[in-house]
Amino acid sequence: MDPVTVVTGGSRGIGAATVRRLASAGHDIALCYRQDSDAAEAVLTDVHAAGRQGIAVRADTTNPDQVAHLFEAAAELGEITGLVNNAGVTSQIGPFVDLTLADLRRVIDVNLIGYVLCAQEAVRRMSSGAAIVNISSAAATLGSPGEYIHYAAAKAATDTLTIGLAKELGPQGIRVNAVSPGTIWTDIHTVSGLPDRPARVANRVPLGRAGYADEIAAAITWLLSPEASYTSGAILRVAGGQ
Ligand code: NAP
Repeated sequence: MDPVTVVTGGSRGIGAATVRRLASAGHDIALCYRQDSDAAEAVLTDVHAAGRQGIAVRADTTNPDQVAHLFEAAAELGEITGLVNNAGVTSQIGPFVDLTLADLRRVIDVNLIGYVLCAQEAVRRMSSGAAIVNISSAAATLGSPGEYIHYAAAKAATDTLTIGLAKELGPQGIRVNAVSPGTIWTDIHTVSGLPDRPARVANRVPLGRAGYADEIAAAITWLLSPEASYTSGAILRVAGGQ
């Protein structure tokens, strides 16, 4: 039975790199995205070029009906064996007191509620041997002062979700882990108002540079593989030493 993996936010950035790596490693893929259908189609073309089945579903992970539709569509590829909870957003960088309620609610909605909704739909369909990887952030322990503390707090919740789910689902043979990237070159920084943020933070990183999406995808792919068969409840930091 070939692995069937759902990757949320699989159209761009870390999610797109993960889809490409997983397809090369023999996974069939259901990816979702929110609005950029051209980007999603481009990734899907690469999945098919790797000889794998793939579908791209427009689904906002904060919407329970759209999430249910995503997993129903994914299940048509075969039994779902993996979930990469990746679709996430930041908001405008700035002092804590200037954070708007709308930005706070959006960040919690996508980064926490969306992850929970997708994990619920996945777990209902998973059996022993399946695995979930939640994409957290090094921000969860750094706190992101002066930037986006609310985002860091949402990512700390991702870590807790990972620990709790690993314990609750372990007896069913389902592994749950998180990957915590440091600053990675993707378009997410445009939303925060500093598209060149990865270059700006390089001097704070022990390895002296920001990371690349494929370096995160490699860790995710390993955690979903049989090579990680005894790894559960881990929060794997991939942050250049930061
Ligand atoms: P990105 O380049 O901005 O890509 C985000 C992806 O998520 C896109 O495919 C986007 O689809 C999708 N998406 C956003 N909101 C969605 C929603 N509500 N429903 C469905 N899809 C949605 O982001 P990234 O940098 O790759 O980040 C991926 C994950 O890594 C996030 O959880 C982020 O918090 C985490 N992370 C990133 C960094 C970093 O420095 N880049 C560091 C630490 C952690 P559309 O294009 O259609 O909107």
